[in-house]
Amino acid sequence: TSLFDGLTEQPSDTLLGLISAFRSDPRPGKIDLGVGVYRDNEGRTPVLRAVKESERRLVEGQLTKAYLGAEGDVGFVEALMPVIFGLQPYGARLCGLQTPGGTGALRLAAELIARARPGARVWLGTPTWPNHSQIMASAHLAIEEYPHFDVTTQRLRFDRVMAAIEAANAGDVLLLHGCCHNPTGADFDDSQWIAIARAMASRGVLPLIDLAYQGLGRGLEEDVAGVRATLDIVGEGFIAYSCDKNFGLYRERVGALYALSRSTGQAGIVQSNLLALARANWSMPPDHGAAIVRIILEDATLAADWRTELSDMACRMREIRTLLAQAKANLAPIAHQQGMFSTLPLTPMMVARLRDEQRVYLPSSGRINIAGLTRDTVPAFVRALLWLA
Ligand code: PMP
Repeated sequence: TSLFDGLTEQPSDTLLGLISAFRSDPRPGKIDLGVGVYRDNEGRTPVLRAVKESERRLVEGQLTKAYLGAEGDVGFVEALMPVIFGLQPYGARLCGLQTPGGTGALRLAAELIARARPGARVWLGTPTWPNHSQIMASAHLAIEEYPHFDVTTQRLRFDRVMAAIEAANAGDVLLLHGCCHNPTGADFDDSQWIAIARAMASRGVLPLIDLAYQGLGRGLEEDVAGVRATLDIVGEGFIAYSCDKNFGLYRERVGALYALSRSTGQAGIVQSNLLALARANWSMPPDHGAAIVRIILEDATLAADWRTELSDMACRMREIRTLLAQAKANLAPIAHQQGMFSTLPLTPMMVARLRDEQRVYLPSSGRINIAGLTRDTVPAFVRALLWLA
């Protein structure tokens, strides 16, 4: 008998299947709304100008590839702090380390929670990024789900978020999307964030905020207003950060995990545990992408160029959202949603018909990548939806 006899086949990533089906479709005019990367009006996902220049400087200036520590590039971790937390970043109550992408940050947070409080529950608003539940389950955390969003009515279920906090135990964790909710685009407004934070503070619920799209919604500062308010009110929590979308670095795997503690003493203990967990997982994170981000953020000119490129991406997606909302009455809510994704009320059968008969590719959940559309393809997509009706 083999050790491997104990395994069963696991489902493959459905999005990857969709990508290859799209590639092998010979029909002209096909539209890909599946893949989760930004695309420009020509359908490309280019390397940002600021990234190219930073990489050039990195290659020329780097003198060694010797190991860094488990915390990764400390300059990167510190350069991101004012971007995320503003100019009063909590002093030594805030600790942080570089991670392999936002995924690594979430995984590390989950393992720290499991270590600190075995059996802690994590509350997930659904629908959410499918990897959330896999990551939490892999760290042996119990998952509680509640509806975050009603796809049919396109309404945020704020009442259910508040009910989840009421139902949570002290020490439970609430996983929130900092901005640009994936897959619904439905973010909380400022007063909702404050109400959620106050309820968490009074129930002793800890926020774990997944911040993977800062600057791709309303703006760099606007997108973190809720995050900052939450940390100010609750006084502790995690930020799992990804630079993979807002710097276009996807495959470089650039992320960071920050933890805010109630005291500097506690922060030291938290950091030492995060470093120990990082060593046991990946020893240290890959360097290249984080060094690119550090060089950009430490140079005023490069940083300004990055901000321009980021706001161009956000503007383009807002334009597409507006065009969709204007083209079809029941797409109106899309104009008020943020970021790269929205989820349409489509059945898997409808999604299959869109693919087979209209050359429009999206996952069966009905999630669309707004950046998969261009000014020129919006009309064809809207016609396909009308054809369906
Ligand atoms: N959180 C959310 C909500 C995401 O959509 C993603 C990426 N799709 C991540 C985290 C992970 O990002 P990364 O690629 O940096 O691991």
